[in-house]
Amino acid sequence: MLGAYTGKILRVNLTTRKINMERLDEEKARKFIGGKGLGAKILYDSLKPGVNPLSPENILIFASGPLTATLAPTSARWAVVTKSPLTNIFLDCQVGGYFGAAMKLAGFDCIIVEGKADKPVYLWVHDKNCEILDADFLWGKGCFETEEILKKRLGLNVRVASIGPAGENLVRYACISVDKYRQAGRGGAGAVMGSKNLKAVAVQSSGHKIRYADPEGFRKAANEALRVIKENSFIPLRRKYGTPIWVSPVNKAALLPTKNFRTGVFEKADEISGETMRKKIVFKDGTCYNCIIQCWKYTHVKSGKYKFDELAGPEYESIALLGSNCGVGSIEAVAYANMLCDNLGLDTISTGNTIAFAMECFEKGLLTLKDTDGINLKFGNAEAEFEMIKKIANREGIGNLLGEGVRRASKKIGKGSEKFAMHVKGLEIPGYDPRGAFGMALAYATSDRGACHQRAWTVRAEISGELAPRFSTKGRAKFVKETQDERAMCFSLVLCDFAPLKIEHFVKLLNTATGFNFTVEDYLKTGERIWNLTRLFNVREGITREDDTLPPRFMEEPLPEGVTKGQVVTKEMLNQMLDEYYTLRGWDENGIPTKEKLKELELI
Ligand code: SF4
Repeated sequence: MLGAYTGKILRVNLTTRKINMERLDEEKARKFIGGKGLGAKILYDSLKPGVNPLSPENILIFASGPLTATLAPTSARWAVVTKSPLTNIFLDCQVGGYFGAAMKLAGFDCIIVEGKADKPVYLWVHDKNCEILDADFLWGKGCFETEEILKKRLGLNVRVASIGPAGENLVRYACISVDKYRQAGRGGAGAVMGSKNLKAVAVQSSGHKIRYADPEGFRKAANEALRVIKENSFIPLRRKYGTPIWVSPVNKAALLPTKNFRTGVFEKADEISGETMRKKIVFKDGTCYNCIIQCWKYTHVKSGKYKFDELAGPEYESIALLGSNCGVGSIEAVAYANMLCDNLGLDTISTGNTIAFAMECFEKGLLTLKDTDGINLKFGNAEAEFEMIKKIANREGIGNLLGEGVRRASKKIGKGSEKFAMHVKGLEIPGYDPRGAFGMALAYATSDRGACHQRAWTVRAEISGELAPRFSTKGRAKFVKETQDERAMCFSLVLCDFAPLKIEHFVKLLNTATGFNFTVEDYLKTGERIWNLTRLFNVREGITREDDTLPPRFMEEPLPEGVTKGQVVTKEMLNQMLDEYYTLRGWDENGIPTKEKLKELELI
C-alpha cells in the first residue's frame, strides 16, 4: 500500500443511484500521481470522444493528491476534473479551502460522479459512506445560503461544494463554490454539476489517519518547506495584500486588461489596487487548510449602494476582469460584483470578459437598449454590470446569450464581433495582455484548458527582466514548456502554486510521503506525461494547431499606450513560438504528440 493515499475511490452513479467503493490503482497513482494527473487519466479512460459535456455520459471527478491534507505546507489543494461545456475539451480546476482535506480525511482520494439524477440531489459523504439525498429544498438558492443550510443541517464541521442558479441554469462558465469563498472557477464545472441535478456535495472528515511511507523523512521535508516559505521575501506582501498586489505593477507594465483588452493601462488602476483594497475594504486575513501564507482577504462594504457583509476577495483576476476590463474603477463596486458572482455561482474571469465583450458590442451598436432590456451597457457602468451578472446567472433576456460565453455569443451576434471576442479555445482570457508579455501568448495558445494563466505564468519573469529581452519571443517556448510540465506535477500532488518551493522540495515531500523513489528527472517526466495525456484528450476531441491561437485583437491591433505602446503578437511570431514549442515537446508540426514521444512517456 502506497503511503499518503487513502487507497479508496468513491464512485457514485446518479442515474442508477449505485454507490461503489473502489480501490485506487497503484500503478495509475505512480504514473499520474493524483489531482489533475489522476483525474485526467480517469477522464481519458472513461469518456468516449465527442461526448456532450452536459449529458449524463460526462463524469465529474473531485481528486485530492498524495500531499492533500498532509503536514506539507499549503496542502489544502485538490482538483476538479471534467470535460468542459464551455470549451468541449479537458478541464481541471485547482481549488483551495478545506473541502479537499475533508474529502481525504473522510477516507477518499477521489469522488467520481456519473450519470444524472432524475431530480435535484446532494451527496452526503460521512463515516466512510455516502448517501444521495433530496435537494429540492436547496434548488434555486445561492451558494452562500446553500452552504449555510447544509452546515446547519449536517454540522458546522461539514465542508460543502455547491452550485448556484448559474450552475442549475447550465451557464457554460458556472463555477463550483467551495467553502463559501473558494471556487472551481473556470470552464463550467458548475454547469456539469447542474446537468447532473447535483446541487451540492457535503463532506465530513471521518478521522482517516494519513500514513506516511517515511514519517520522519516527511516531517523533515515538511519543516524544510515551511522554513523556505517563511523566509521568502515576497510572502509578507502576499500576506498583506493577497493577489491584488499585482494590480499596480501589471498596470505599470501596461498589460492590465482594460475595456475589453483595448489597452493595457487603466486610468483608475490606483482605485482598484491591492493597496486601496487593503485600506478601504479588507477587515481580516484568512487562509486555506494548513497554510501560513494567509492570502485570503476578507472584505466588506458597510454602507452605500455597494453594501455587502462579507467576501473573501476579490482576487487579482476578478479585479482585472470585473474591474478595469469593464472600465469599473471602484474597488467597492468590483467587490460587490465579485460577491454577486460567487453567490450566483459564476466564474468571475469569464463573466467580466463576457460583459466587457457585450459592452463593446453595445458601444459599436451591435447590441442596443432593446437587446439589453433598457440597460445602458457602457464601459464603466457598475450598476449595468451587476444587472448583467444577474441576467447571465438566470439566463434571462440577453443573459441567455451571454451565458454561452464569448465564443458562442460572438458567432450569434456576428458582424465582426468575433474579432474582439477574447478567448482561446472558448475559454475567456485572464488578466494579462499577452502583447505586453509574449510568453503569455504562447502560454494561452497552448494551455490544455484554453486561455489560462496558471499553466505557465511568464509575467513576472518577463517584466522583471529574468526572461529578456522584454518584447521578444526568445526563450519563451522553453520557459513555457518547462513550466507547464512542472505545474502539471504541482497540480497533481496537490500543493498550492503560490508556495515558493523548488522542485527538489516537491520531490522530497512526494517520496517521503508515498514511498516513491522519484529523481528530479522522474518528477519532470511525470509532469510531461500528464501534459501529453491532456493533449491526447484534446486531440481526440479534434484540437489541432489551428486551435493553438489567439483572438485577432492580440495579433492585429497594437497596444496604444504606456510602455507596451505599439506591441502586438503577430501570427508569424506566434507561429515561430509554436514551431519551437512543438519541437521541444516532440510533437509534429500540427501539434500532435508523436508515437515516439508517447512511447517514451509510456502513454502507449
Ligand atoms: S497561499 Fe493562499 S490560496 Fe494558497 S494555500 Fe495558502 S491561503 Fe490558500
